[in-house]
Amino acid sequence: MKSQDIRNKFLEFFKSKSHLIVPSAPMVTKDDPTLMFVNSGMAPFKEFFLGHGEPKKNRIADTQKCLRVSGKHNDLEEVGYDTYHHTLFEMLGNWSFGDYFKKEAIAWAWELLTEVYGIDKNILYVTVFEGSDDADNLSMDTEAYDFWKAIIPEDRILMGNKKDNFWEMGEQGPCGPCSEIHVDIRSDEEKAKVDGKSLVNMDHPQVVEIWNLVFMQYNRKATGDLEILPNKHIDTGMGFERLCMVLQGVTSNYDTDVFTPIIREIEAITYKDYGEDEKVDIAIRVISDHLRAVAFAIADGQLPTNNGAGYVIRRILRRAVRYGFTFLDRKEPFIFRLVDVLAKKMGKAFPELKAQKQLIENVIKEEEASFLRTLEQGLVLLDRIVENTKGETVSGEKAFELYDTYGFPIDLTSLILRERGLQLDEEGFKSEMEKQKTRSRSASEMSTDDWTVLLEDDIQEFIGYDALNANVKITRYRKVTSKKDGKLYQLVFNLTPFYAEGGGQVGDKGYLEDSKGDVVYILDTKKENNIIVHYTKNLPKNLKETFKATVDQKQRERTESNHTATHLLHQALREVLGTHVEQKGSAVHSKYLRFDFSHFSKLTVEQLRDVENFVNARIDGKIPLEEQRNIPMDKAIEEGAMALFGEKYGDTVRTIRFGQSIELCGGTHVDNTSDIWHFKITSEGAVAAGIRRIEAITKDAVKDFYFENNRAYFEIRDLLNNTKEPVKAVKALQDENTDLRKQIESLLKDKAKVLKGELKNEISEVNGINFLAKKVDLDASGIKDLCFKLGGEFNNLFLLFGAEHNGKAILSCYISKDLVAERNLNAGQIVRELGKYIQGGGGGQAFFATAGGKNPNGIDDALKSAKSYL
Ligand code: ATP
Ligand code: MG
Repeated sequence: MKSQDIRNKFLEFFKSKSHLIVPSAPMVTKDDPTLMFVNSGMAPFKEFFLGHGEPKKNRIADTQKCLRVSGKHNDLEEVGYDTYHHTLFEMLGNWSFGDYFKKEAIAWAWELLTEVYGIDKNILYVTVFEGSDDADNLSMDTEAYDFWKAIIPEDRILMGNKKDNFWEMGEQGPCGPCSEIHVDIRSDEEKAKVDGKSLVNMDHPQVVEIWNLVFMQYNRKATGDLEILPNKHIDTGMGFERLCMVLQGVTSNYDTDVFTPIIREIEAITYKDYGEDEKVDIAIRVISDHLRAVAFAIADGQLPTNNGAGYVIRRILRRAVRYGFTFLDRKEPFIFRLVDVLAKKMGKAFPELKAQKQLIENVIKEEEASFLRTLEQGLVLLDRIVENTKGETVSGEKAFELYDTYGFPIDLTSLILRERGLQLDEEGFKSEMEKQKTRSRSASEMSTDDWTVLLEDDIQEFIGYDALNANVKITRYRKVTSKKDGKLYQLVFNLTPFYAEGGGQVGDKGYLEDSKGDVVYILDTKKENNIIVHYTKNLPKNLKETFKATVDQKQRERTESNHTATHLLHQALREVLGTHVEQKGSAVHSKYLRFDFSHFSKLTVEQLRDVENFVNARIDGKIPLEEQRNIPMDKAIEEGAMALFGEKYGDTVRTIRFGQSIELCGGTHVDNTSDIWHFKITSEGAVAAGIRRIEAITKDAVKDFYFENNRAYFEIRDLLNNTKEPVKAVKALQDENTDLRKQIESLLKDKAKVLKGELKNEISEVNGINFLAKKVDLDASGIKDLCFKLGGEFNNLFLLFGAEHNGKAILSCYISKDLVAERNLNAGQIVRELGKYIQGGGGGQAFFATAGGKNPNGIDDALKSAKSYL
């Protein structure tokens, strides 16, 4: 059975059991501070399990793109080495939100596997939670056991411990026992030798878990206690690629048709064969896996960057480049060439791959090229480290620096060292790594208390499109503590005028006022798993009062102005540059706006001017806002709104129209474009291959901008004696400056010539060595020049010059190369030692070295002690 059919069969089966089939949610999470990427099928539904919203239907099934490369679930290091863990994989799942429970979930899973897919019952095992005698003191899941017993022989049901059979989303939240289904796909011969039962959950590559049925019946509180959930839920997850392996009769996920087209392409490009050399095989698996993860991430709008989720994606891609570089001899970008097969293979189920193909290729190619340059540079640096290494071991600290600062992979370092007959201090490296981990861990540590509920009926309504203040009640609150922000409180209201950060727009600030006039400031507003939380430094005195909640109007108005300008800018770019322009991210602040978009080249001055003019014409046009709330998605698309990849939309959406500009948007906007006053681009540049960024300002920020520029202009004119033509005057100054510099250079040359003549006479012979130690009036480069000139005229020369320059001391030592060898002298070591006189240090090579220090008074003593080296 083809993978495409396997996926469809799953969805059809659950459709026939009254499930609603939904598309995969984007892989990058937006309003969940505990999760960077969706790492299991349930993550996009978390808000429903937490009771913060209603699903469209209480039975849902889908295939979900999952990424397990960070946090609680991190399989990255396994990938490539084994044949059944991926970074990105599809998780097929069926859900019941307070509807059916264990009985149906178990029966349907069995029916699908054995009857629909026709898997032989005799290769399947199931596990049941055995209970725990720890603090939770949970009893065995006899319910699940009994349901299984009714359909399969008891000797196929195994008991599982808490680690494998009690599923928890995170430190807190819904959780419960689970039943896993495992397959044993070993040969009959192997099976006769070792009983399959003994291999379940033992990391055997052919006795693997394919499906996990989680029975959510508890909630884990911040205190660590479990409470029983009022509504019980089903959450199941089956690894699609593993299922394909079983149904296609192969013993590795990489031998299924999900991967073989990619692997054939890698073979064709690299002239390597898969299946002949274990190292090459690992590299091919790594690359074919990571290609998928990176391509899907970019399609979902997550570009490789220097921090956060983007950094994780960058690291995945770099891991692939590294394996290609080391084991497939790839010194040129090539992974981007695989995007085509991937898009052909998976574009049907995931149309975003096809639509974004060009962009994905560009971005990957650029990243590959830049990391390959890093690798080349790293090789040079590593050479230097090797040269300076005494003995046979390279310190862990040096290797860590190479790894941390230059991104040079540690396994490559140790490989190269081994080839040179050296070794790496692995322990030292590990301890540096640990130190860094501790540093970053403590920086991101966060603890969250349980909610204290004040009002049970906590239906939360957002009224901030229409009002900036309201009388509100606090329905619940909790404390969150982090290293970064210290102690803060999150408050939830029954209704709120505060806009929560989202769609690129920052959250509102403002304040709460009680009946006595006491005020608590709202520092920020965010959405967390679908509820709006307001951050405060302190709790109000009487939490049960009704408060007057007021949004900071100035900030809101500036933000709105920037948000509307962002829409107009989007429209302008498509008009001026072409319809290939797509939004790739935006940040709408009160002070400025930022807009990222796909476009292949730098904007010309004319294009920037046209874009500005286009937007300003719409501002002058006084176009009113036309807003539609809750209109069906299809209708919005029909009217011309564009959906963005990587965004989650409901069935009904909100549209924002200003004349011809129409967008799907949840943000806040001006009532009329004239409220923006004026639009000014402040910068344009590249963020990644094929992605440009424009930053711009509006409203009073533009006034400030022109005011500042004007002030600077008049200051410059003032400095130039109030000339009417400052540009001309500056040009004249520049020319004069160039002339003067030339004159100084030639004067200095003359001076050095004279000095050299004088010094030649002062060189004297000490112990058969031509020696001079003297203070001179030159800068470091002048001294160097002098040394090498004298060196050209004398053999057996030892020079030490001291100089005072800008209040600092310089010491330079020159030793003829023949002396270095004969007398075992080392200028580097000498200046390092003499550095103590001038309170400084330095180094260099054996024949020439320089030290700098902050004490010019020590120069004479340093010069005096020079003779002692002869
Ligand atoms: P394993 O022990 O094999 O790592 P798991 O216990 O981490 O699996 P779950 O978290 O229960 O797996 O996820 C549900 C299903 O998703 C698994 O039964 C498996 O089929 C699949 N799965 C989990 N991790 C991966 C992965 N890294 N790559 C591919 N499939 C996976
Ligand atoms: Mg796992």
